[in-house]
Amino acid sequence: MDKERKLIIAGNWKMNKTVAEALDLVQGLKRELGSVKEVDIVVCPPFTAIAEVSKAILDSNIRLGAQSMSEHIGGAYTGEIAAGMLKEFSVRYVILGHSERRQYQGESDALIAKKALAAHAASLKPIVCVGETLNEREAGETEAVVARQLQLGLARLSKAQMEETVIAYEPVWAIGTGRNATPEQAQTVHAFIRRSLAAQFNDAVAKRVRIQYGGSVKPANARELMGQPDVDGALVGGASLEIRSFSDIVKNSI
Ligand code: PEP
Repeated sequence: MDKERKLIIAGNWKMNKTVAEALDLVQGLKRELGSVKEVDIVVCPPFTAIAEVSKAILDSNIRLGAQSMSEHIGGAYTGEIAAGMLKEFSVRYVILGHSERRQYQGESDALIAKKALAAHAASLKPIVCVGETLNEREAGETEAVVARQLQLGLARLSKAQMEETVIAYEPVWAIGTGRNATPEQAQTVHAFIRRSLAAQFNDAVAKRVRIQYGGSVKPANARELMGQPDVDGALVGGASLEIRSFSDIVKNSI
């Protein structure tokens, strides 16, 4: 597939996989995807598996991401992990503002803005998640919600930092539900996101930013979704937990 921007496909393993299971998965992905050069492949294990996965992918084309991080650089923040600690394990990406963290940990756009800045300060690339709930979509509020999340969540970034930031459009109603946005629905919102980035930063920045789609991506729908002009990859939850389904998503996207 000939794309304007290099695709980035990331697996969000969420609160799944022991260290042994994580190593099985990543060894399988190395076997299946070792020769893929057209796509940036990222896995985001739970914190407890990061050290071992980091060693296992050292000599491979698979990159490491974290699922969250603190906005602070260190100190008395029980249970938190700082960007600098992730860097010790060669983590390159960090998912910020996933809808599950917005919902269960009460993460706000203002907090996500602080985290995005802290990530860049440590040379981690944030994957900033945005997306509307079903109620918001049905009320015709999709663009207003996404615009607010972008405006506030990216408020502290410079143009150079924005170019190194990935956006994941994840309609909340499509996450873990088996109900994906149609390629047309995804393209419409992705194009809106790119226009918003052009207004907030500039055209050149907006053209370079990669926008992933997330929400029930499977091998069967990956090709059509990735075929949309403004869809530059995927953030995959459930289907990233199996060697076969995640590698087929990557292979079907090329
Ligand atoms: C996600 O949680 O980021 C996600 C997209 O999940 P799923 O692929 O399971 O819908």
